[in-house]
Amino acid sequence: GNPEAMLSVVGLSSGYGRIEVLHGVSMQIMPGQLVALVGANGAGKTTLLRCISGVQPVSRGSISMHGEPITFDEAKNRVRAGICQVPEGRHVFKPMSIEDNLRLGGYLRPAAEIRTSLEEVYALFPVLRERHDQPAGVLSGGQQQMLALGRALMGKPKLLLLDEPSMGLAPLVVAEIFRNIRLLRDAGITILLVEQNARAALAIADYAYVLETGNVALEGKGADLLRDDQVRRAYLGM
Ligand code: ATP
Repeated sequence: GNPEAMLSVVGLSSGYGRIEVLHGVSMQIMPGQLVALVGANGAGKTTLLRCISGVQPVSRGSISMHGEPITFDEAKNRVRAGICQVPEGRHVFKPMSIEDNLRLGGYLRPAAEIRTSLEEVYALFPVLRERHDQPAGVLSGGQQQMLALGRALMGKPKLLLLDEPSMGLAPLVVAEIFRNIRLLRDAGITILLVEQNARAALAIADYAYVLETGNVALEGKGADLLRDDQVRRAYLGM
Protein backbone atom coordinates (compact mmCIF):
# COMPACT_ATOMS: atom_id res chain seq x y z
CA GLY A 1 0.00 0.00 0.00
CA ASN A 2 0.96 3.63 -0.59
CA PRO A 3 2.70 4.83 2.60
CA GLU A 4 1.39 8.38 2.07
CA ALA A 5 -2.20 7.16 2.12
CA MET A 6 -4.05 6.91 5.42
CA LEU A 7 -5.74 3.84 3.99
CA SER A 8 -5.03 1.89 0.89
CA VAL A 9 -7.11 -0.99 -0.42
CA VAL A 10 -5.60 -3.04 -3.24
CA GLY A 11 -7.37 -5.69 -5.33
CA LEU A 12 -9.79 -6.55 -2.56
CA SER A 13 -12.25 -9.40 -2.94
CA SER A 14 -14.77 -10.58 -0.39
CA GLY A 15 -18.17 -12.22 -0.18
CA TYR A 16 -20.59 -14.36 1.75
CA GLY A 17 -20.08 -18.10 1.52
CA ARG A 18 -19.45 -18.95 -2.13
CA ILE A 19 -20.90 -15.68 -3.38
CA GLU A 20 -18.26 -13.10 -4.17
CA VAL A 21 -19.55 -9.56 -3.69
CA LEU A 22 -16.38 -7.46 -4.13
CA HIS A 23 -14.24 -8.32 -7.16
CA GLY A 24 -10.82 -6.73 -6.77
CA VAL A 25 -11.60 -3.26 -5.44
CA SER A 26 -8.80 -0.70 -5.07
CA MET A 27 -9.09 2.67 -3.35
CA GLN A 28 -6.98 5.19 -1.50
CA ILE A 29 -7.81 7.66 1.22
CA MET A 30 -5.26 10.41 1.78
CA PRO A 31 -4.90 11.94 5.27
CA GLY A 32 -7.49 14.64 5.98
CA GLN A 33 -9.64 13.75 2.98
CA LEU A 34 -13.36 13.23 2.93
CA VAL A 35 -13.86 10.36 0.48
CA ALA A 36 -17.31 9.28 -0.67
CA LEU A 37 -18.25 5.78 -1.74
CA VAL A 38 -21.47 5.82 -3.73
CA GLY A 39 -23.37 3.28 -5.79
CA ALA A 40 -26.70 1.50 -6.09
CA ASN A 41 -28.27 -0.74 -3.50
CA GLY A 42 -26.36 -3.99 -3.20
CA ALA A 43 -23.23 -2.73 -4.99
CA GLY A 44 -21.11 -3.85 -2.01
CA LYS A 45 -20.52 -0.57 -0.19
CA THR A 46 -21.32 -1.90 3.27
CA THR A 47 -19.30 -5.05 2.60
CA LEU A 48 -16.26 -2.90 1.76
CA LEU A 49 -16.67 -0.89 4.98
CA ARG A 50 -16.93 -4.10 6.96
CA CYS A 51 -13.71 -5.40 5.38
CA ILE A 52 -11.96 -2.18 6.39
CA SER A 53 -13.22 -2.31 9.96
CA GLY A 54 -12.26 -5.98 10.17
CA VAL A 55 -15.61 -7.66 10.74
CA GLN A 56 -15.76 -9.18 7.25
CA PRO A 57 -13.10 -11.61 5.97
CA VAL A 58 -11.13 -10.78 2.83
CA SER A 59 -10.52 -13.51 0.25
CA ARG A 60 -7.97 -11.68 -1.95
CA GLY A 61 -6.07 -8.39 -1.90
CA SER A 62 -4.85 -6.20 0.91
CA ILE A 63 -5.73 -3.31 3.19
CA SER A 64 -2.98 -1.07 4.60
CA MET A 65 -2.90 1.85 6.96
CA HIS A 66 0.05 4.24 6.38
CA GLY A 67 1.65 1.51 4.29
CA GLU A 68 1.39 -1.18 7.00
CA PRO A 69 -0.78 -4.17 6.11
CA ILE A 70 -3.80 -4.66 8.42
CA THR A 71 -5.66 -7.13 6.16
CA PHE A 72 -5.71 -9.85 8.81
CA ASP A 73 -5.71 -7.74 11.99
CA GLU A 74 -8.55 -8.26 14.42
CA ALA A 75 -11.27 -5.61 14.47
CA LYS A 76 -10.39 -4.52 18.01
CA ASN A 77 -6.79 -3.82 16.99
CA ARG A 78 -8.07 -1.67 14.13
CA VAL A 79 -10.15 0.32 16.62
CA ARG A 80 -6.97 0.86 18.64
CA ALA A 81 -5.21 1.97 15.43
CA GLY A 82 -7.93 4.62 15.03
CA ILE A 83 -10.40 3.07 12.59
CA CYS A 84 -13.91 3.73 13.81
CA GLN A 85 -17.13 2.69 12.07
CA VAL A 86 -20.49 4.36 12.64
CA PRO A 87 -22.87 1.63 11.51
CA GLU A 88 -26.00 2.15 9.46
CA GLY A 89 -29.05 2.77 11.64
CA ARG A 90 -27.12 4.67 14.32
CA HIS A 91 -27.57 2.16 17.18
CA VAL A 92 -27.61 4.55 20.09
CA PHE A 93 -28.59 3.04 23.44
CA LYS A 94 -31.99 4.63 23.90
CA PRO A 95 -32.60 4.07 27.65
CA MET A 96 -29.10 5.32 28.54
CA SER A 97 -28.38 9.01 29.01
CA ILE A 98 -26.88 10.97 26.14
CA GLU A 99 -23.69 11.55 28.12
CA ASP A 100 -23.33 7.87 29.00
CA ASN A 101 -23.73 7.01 25.31
CA LEU A 102 -20.87 9.42 24.58
CA ARG A 103 -18.71 8.00 27.38
CA LEU A 104 -19.09 4.52 25.87
CA GLY A 105 -17.33 5.78 22.75
CA GLY A 106 -14.27 6.63 24.85
CA TYR A 107 -14.02 3.42 26.80
CA LEU A 108 -10.55 2.57 25.47
CA ARG A 109 -9.13 5.96 26.53
CA PRO A 110 -7.71 7.22 29.84
CA ALA A 111 -10.42 8.68 32.09
CA ALA A 112 -8.54 11.98 32.31
CA GLU A 113 -9.00 12.59 28.57
CA ILE A 114 -12.71 11.82 28.52
CA ARG A 115 -13.79 15.18 29.98
CA THR A 116 -11.83 17.09 27.32
CA SER A 117 -13.32 14.99 24.53
CA LEU A 118 -16.82 15.44 25.95
CA GLU A 119 -16.30 19.21 25.87
CA GLU A 120 -15.17 19.00 22.24
CA VAL A 121 -18.22 16.99 21.23
CA TYR A 122 -20.55 19.34 23.17
CA ALA A 123 -18.95 22.34 21.46
CA LEU A 124 -19.63 20.74 18.08
CA PHE A 125 -23.17 19.60 18.90
CA PRO A 126 -24.62 21.95 21.59
CA VAL A 127 -27.96 20.14 21.65
CA LEU A 128 -26.20 17.10 23.17
CA ARG A 129 -24.92 19.26 26.04
CA GLU A 130 -28.34 20.78 26.65
CA ARG A 131 -29.90 17.34 26.98
CA HIS A 132 -26.88 15.40 28.30
CA ASP A 133 -28.73 13.76 31.23
CA GLN A 134 -31.81 12.75 29.23
CA PRO A 135 -32.23 9.28 27.71
CA ALA A 136 -30.96 9.08 24.13
CA GLY A 137 -34.40 7.84 23.07
CA VAL A 138 -35.87 11.36 23.46
CA LEU A 139 -33.68 12.67 20.63
CA SER A 140 -35.03 13.06 17.08
CA GLY A 141 -33.56 10.90 14.30
CA GLY A 142 -31.16 13.63 13.22
CA GLN A 143 -30.04 14.26 16.79
CA GLN A 144 -29.46 10.53 17.28
CA GLN A 145 -27.22 10.63 14.21
CA MET A 146 -25.30 13.51 15.85
CA LEU A 147 -25.00 11.41 18.99
CA ALA A 148 -23.66 8.48 16.96
CA LEU A 149 -21.08 10.82 15.35
CA GLY A 150 -20.21 12.31 18.74
CA ARG A 151 -19.78 8.87 20.26
CA ALA A 152 -17.38 7.94 17.44
CA LEU A 153 -15.39 11.14 18.06
CA MET A 154 -14.98 10.17 21.73
CA GLY A 155 -12.62 7.41 20.54
CA LYS A 156 -10.29 9.98 18.86
CA PRO A 157 -10.59 8.31 15.46
CA LYS A 158 -8.00 8.77 12.72
CA LEU A 159 -10.31 7.30 10.10
CA LEU A 160 -14.06 7.54 10.48
CA LEU A 161 -16.20 5.12 8.45
CA LEU A 162 -19.75 6.44 8.06
CA ASP A 163 -22.39 4.05 6.71
CA GLU A 164 -25.42 5.86 5.25
CA PRO A 165 -25.71 8.62 7.85
CA SER A 166 -28.61 10.23 5.96
CA MET A 167 -30.70 7.05 5.91
CA GLY A 168 -34.35 7.61 6.83
CA LEU A 169 -33.94 11.27 7.72
CA ALA A 170 -36.00 14.20 6.43
CA PRO A 171 -34.32 16.47 3.82
CA LEU A 172 -33.67 19.38 6.19
CA VAL A 173 -32.09 17.04 8.71
CA VAL A 174 -30.00 15.41 5.98
CA ALA A 175 -28.60 18.83 5.06
CA GLU A 176 -27.62 19.35 8.69
CA ILE A 177 -25.94 15.94 8.93
CA PHE A 178 -23.90 16.70 5.80
CA ARG A 179 -22.90 20.08 7.27
CA ASN A 180 -21.73 18.26 10.39
CA ILE A 181 -19.73 15.74 8.38
CA ARG A 182 -17.99 18.62 6.62
CA LEU A 183 -17.22 20.17 10.03
CA LEU A 184 -15.55 16.92 11.11
CA ARG A 185 -13.42 16.92 7.97
CA ASP A 186 -12.50 20.56 8.57
CA ALA A 187 -11.45 19.55 12.09
CA GLY A 188 -8.89 17.24 10.46
CA ILE A 189 -10.62 13.88 10.65
CA THR A 190 -10.21 11.59 7.66
CA ILE A 191 -13.58 10.21 6.58
CA LEU A 192 -14.91 7.48 4.32
CA LEU A 193 -18.58 8.24 3.70
CA VAL A 194 -20.87 5.57 2.25
CA GLU A 195 -24.05 7.06 0.82
CA GLN A 196 -27.04 6.24 -1.36
CA ASN A 197 -27.60 9.99 -1.49
CA ALA A 198 -24.93 10.38 -4.19
CA ARG A 199 -25.62 14.01 -5.00
CA ALA A 200 -25.14 15.25 -1.43
CA ALA A 201 -22.14 12.99 -0.85
CA LEU A 202 -20.34 14.05 -4.04
CA ALA A 203 -21.02 17.70 -3.23
CA ILE A 204 -18.97 17.54 -0.02
CA ALA A 205 -16.40 14.90 -1.02
CA ASP A 206 -12.78 15.70 -1.85
CA TYR A 207 -12.62 12.46 -3.80
CA ALA A 208 -15.14 9.75 -4.62
CA TYR A 209 -15.50 6.21 -5.85
CA VAL A 210 -18.53 4.80 -7.65
CA LEU A 211 -19.03 1.12 -6.91
CA GLU A 212 -21.01 -1.00 -9.36
CA THR A 213 -21.72 -4.68 -8.61
CA GLY A 214 -18.49 -5.08 -6.66
CA ASN A 215 -16.17 -3.13 -8.99
CA VAL A 216 -14.99 0.47 -8.98
CA ALA A 217 -16.75 1.85 -12.08
CA LEU A 218 -15.51 5.44 -11.76
CA GLU A 219 -13.41 7.58 -9.46
CA GLY A 220 -12.46 11.23 -9.30
CA LYS A 221 -12.86 14.49 -7.45
CA GLY A 222 -16.35 14.83 -5.99
CA ALA A 223 -17.06 18.02 -7.95
CA ASP A 224 -15.91 16.42 -11.22
CA LEU A 225 -18.11 13.35 -10.76
CA LEU A 226 -21.04 15.61 -9.94
CA ARG A 227 -20.61 17.19 -13.40
CA ASP A 228 -20.00 13.87 -15.22
CA ASP A 229 -22.82 12.99 -17.64
CA GLN A 230 -22.56 9.25 -16.99
CA VAL A 231 -22.81 9.79 -13.23
CA ARG A 232 -25.66 12.26 -13.63
CA ARG A 233 -27.68 9.79 -15.69
CA ALA A 234 -26.93 6.64 -13.73
CA TYR A 235 -26.82 7.90 -10.14
CA LEU A 236 -28.35 11.33 -9.89
CA GLY A 237 -31.47 10.69 -11.99
CA MET A 238 -30.76 13.59 -14.32
P1 ATP B 1 -27.01 -1.27 0.64
O1 ATP B 1 -26.96 0.18 0.37
O2 ATP B 1 -28.29 -1.92 0.28
O3 ATP B 1 -26.50 -1.65 2.00
P2 ATP B 1 -24.46 -2.01 -0.36
O4 ATP B 1 -23.87 -1.39 -1.57
O5 ATP B 1 -23.96 -1.58 0.94
O6 ATP B 1 -26.01 -1.88 -0.44
P3 ATP B 1 -23.89 -4.64 0.53
O7 ATP B 1 -24.76 -4.50 1.73
O8 ATP B 1 -22.43 -4.64 0.73
O9 ATP B 1 -24.26 -3.56 -0.56
O10 ATP B 1 -24.34 -5.96 -0.21
C1 ATP B 1 -23.70 -6.44 -1.41
C2 ATP B 1 -24.29 -7.79 -1.80
O11 ATP B 1 -24.02 -8.77 -0.79
C3 ATP B 1 -25.80 -7.79 -1.97
O12 ATP B 1 -26.11 -8.56 -3.09
C4 ATP B 1 -26.31 -8.44 -0.72
O13 ATP B 1 -27.49 -9.13 -0.98
C5 ATP B 1 -25.20 -9.39 -0.34
N1 ATP B 1 -25.09 -9.56 1.12
C6 ATP B 1 -24.94 -8.56 2.01
N2 ATP B 1 -24.85 -9.05 3.27
C7 ATP B 1 -24.97 -10.39 3.16
C8 ATP B 1 -24.97 -11.49 4.10
N3 ATP B 1 -24.82 -11.28 5.41
N4 ATP B 1 -25.11 -12.72 3.61
C9 ATP B 1 -25.26 -12.95 2.27
N5 ATP B 1 -25.26 -11.97 1.36
C10 ATP B 1 -25.13 -10.71 1.77
